[in-house]
Amino acid sequence: MPELPEVETIRRGIAPHVEGKRVSQVIVRQRQLRWPVPVSLEPGLTGSTITRLSRRGKYLLLGCKSGTAIIHLGMSGSLQVLSAGQDAARHDHIDILFGKRRMLRLHDPRRFGCMLWTEQDPLAHALLRDLGPEPLTMDFDASYLHQRCQGSKRSIKTAIMDSHVVVGVGNIYASEALFVAGVHPLLTANKISLIRHKRLTAAIKQVLSAAIAAGGTTLRDFVDSDGKPGYFSQQLKVYGRAGEPCLACGQQIEQCSIGQRSSFFCPHCQKQ
Ligand SMILES: [Zn+2]
Repeated sequence: MPELPEVETIRRGIAPHVEGKRVSQVIVRQRQLRWPVPVSLEPGLTGSTITRLSRRGKYLLLGCKSGTAIIHLGMSGSLQVLSAGQDAARHDHIDILFGKRRMLRLHDPRRFGCMLWTEQDPLAHALLRDLGPEPLTMDFDASYLHQRCQGSKRSIKTAIMDSHVVVGVGNIYASEALFVAGVHPLLTANKISLIRHKRLTAAIKQVLSAAIAAGGTTLRDFVDSDGKPGYFSQQLKVYGRAGEPCLACGQQIEQCSIGQRSSFFCPHCQKQ
């Protein structure tokens, strides 16, 4: 499943190829994605020039003067810029053509992704309006997180994975950031001091930035590449390493389940 760094990498890879380009045609082969592709998408986009490809959380926003296509890649979705006229394979659900030469293609075997259309402010859309701040902006800092965790008796890992608290911290990056910050994932959110929240917010920014930087080497995969773009492998310190030695202290990494998601931590480095 693409997480925030993958979505940001996709945005950076694709934006230069679609921004400033005029949409000549939209072909929808399959409307039954997570939510039906609205019939307003084709007339909304066709003839419009893409002004900006931006991102909010894990949503990509393909904006033009007449409105915005809201795209989510779900579990298995991918976007690629290809030569127009390239045959559609199975699961190639939507093509957005830019003249006779280029197109943006959405491929999604499991169809948990979506492509919606809005003529209103996309940030006010029901899917986006209640999202928490972006983790890499100044709005997300220790005092914000500390304040959001007051009165919350859930675990800190569950709190930072809540998109109403902060967007884009998925299971992998939550585990990694808690390790970097030395915070045990089961610690009750409202018991964490401002100092430790400072370490944690810094760790979240650090692991996400490092993943985006690692993704930079895969940017060309989104344009004219053979096959589908893969998600980059990351240097993970705890995630998926149960039973292996901690890279910092040598103790065995342990695994537990929090909110039905696998969590990995070092019992020595991450204090309760
Ligand atoms: Zn350790």
